[in-house]
Amino acid sequence: MKVVLQNLTKIFPSRNKKSNEEVIAVNDFTFEIPDGKLIGLLGPSGCGKSTTLYMISGLQKPTSGKIFFGDDDVTELATENRGVGLVFQNYALYPHMTVKQNILFPLQNLKGADKLSKAEMQERAYNAAKLVQIDELMDRKPSELSGGQQQRVAIARALVKMPRVLLLDEPLSNLDARLRLQTREEIRRIQKETGITTVFVTHDQEEAMSISDMIVVMKLGVVQQIGAPQDVYDSPANLFVAKFLGTPPINVFEGKISGGRLFLGQEAVLEVGGVADQEVYVGIRPEGFVLDPNGPLTCRLNNVEVMGRDVSIVSTNPASLNPIIRSIINADNKVDATQENVRYSLKPHKLFLFNKETEERIFFEVK
Ligand code: ATP
Repeated sequence: MKVVLQNLTKIFPSRNKKSNEEVIAVNDFTFEIPDGKLIGLLGPSGCGKSTTLYMISGLQKPTSGKIFFGDDDVTELATENRGVGLVFQNYALYPHMTVKQNILFPLQNLKGADKLSKAEMQERAYNAAKLVQIDELMDRKPSELSGGQQQRVAIARALVKMPRVLLLDEPLSNLDARLRLQTREEIRRIQKETGITTVFVTHDQEEAMSISDMIVVMKLGVVQQIGAPQDVYDSPANLFVAKFLGTPPINVFEGKISGGRLFLGQEAVLEVGGVADQEVYVGIRPEGFVLDPNGPLTCRLNNVEVMGRDVSIVSTNPASLNPIIRSIINADNKVDATQENVRYSLKPHKLFLFNKETEERIFFEVK
C-alpha cells in the first residue's frame, strides 16, 4: 500500500494567552511512500516526527494537506477505519491480560463484515505471535516478560489486524543497547516478510540508517532531505543533514575559496572547480582524511585511539569549528603518537562545501 502525504501541515495554537506564537510542528510535508517499503522518519527532538506519524495514523488531524492510502483519501477517516497498526515506545500492553489475550484484543472488537470466528481469531493471533517469535509465551502476563519480549507482543498486536500500514514511534527506546540492536533487526525481518508499508520514527540516526529503505530527515517541522540512507550520507543537502548523520560526526571547518582552491587557514587543501571566491563551511567525514607526510592539511596531534580494525586520530586545527577533529584511519597505518603534528591529504568525495549564510550545499568539480 503506497502512502501519499500531500502538503501536510500541522499547526498547534499557542497555549500562552499573552502571545500568539503558534507552533508549526509539520510544515508542508509532501512525500510518496512506495508500497512495501520501510521509511525512517529522523530528526532531533521536537522536529515533528511524531506529529507526522500521528497524522498518518489519524490520531491527529492535519491543519491542511491530505493523506492517501493507495488511491483512498483517508484524511478525514478515524484511526480505527484506516487499517493502521500502531506501536509506541511504551508498549502499552494490558497488564491484567495474558500475551494471548493482548494479541486477541483488537480482533475481538471487529464488527460487521470484519467480524471473525473464534477459530479464525486464534489462528491469526498464533500466526502473529509466531512471526515475532513469542508463540511460546502466550500464557504469560506482560510483567513476566523482558522489555524486548513486551515490545514483540506490542508488534504482534499491531500486526494481527493485518494493517495496511504499520506505524512505529520510537519502538526501541526503552530497550537496552544489545536488545535494541536485536529488536531492530527483528522489525526489519518482520517488515520484509509481511511486506507492510512501514513508517518508523526515531531520533537515532544509526537506527534509521541501518533498517530503512529510505530516510526522511526533518528539522523544525521542515523536511530537509529524503533518500536512501547511503545516498543521504554520501551527498547531504545541507550542513544540518551532514552533521546529523554519521558516527563519529562530520568534522566542520571554516574555509575560504580563492582562485579555485579551498583554504583552511593559510593552507590550500584542495582544488575545487566551478566555485566562486567566497567564505564557506567545510564538512569532512572522519574517513575523508588520508595520512600523508606531504599532505596539505596540518593538524596538531592530541592522541591516537586504537579501535581494533580502525585507528581514530584526535587532533586540532584553528580552522575547525569543533573542539577536536576526529579522523578514522585503517589500523594498517602505523601512527607515531609522539609526533607533534599530523599531515593529511583529503578525499574529495568525503568533503562537502556549504554556503555560509544558507548552509545549503555548494557542489564543486574535483580536479
Ligand atoms: P520527540 O523526538 O521529542 O518526540 P518529535 O520530533 O516527535 O520530538 P513532535 O512531538 O512531533 O516532535 O513535536 C513537534 C513540535 O510540536 C514540538 O515543538 C512540540 O512541542 C509541538 N507539539 C507537539 N504536540 C503538541 C500539542 N499537542 N500542542 C502544542 N504543541 C505541540
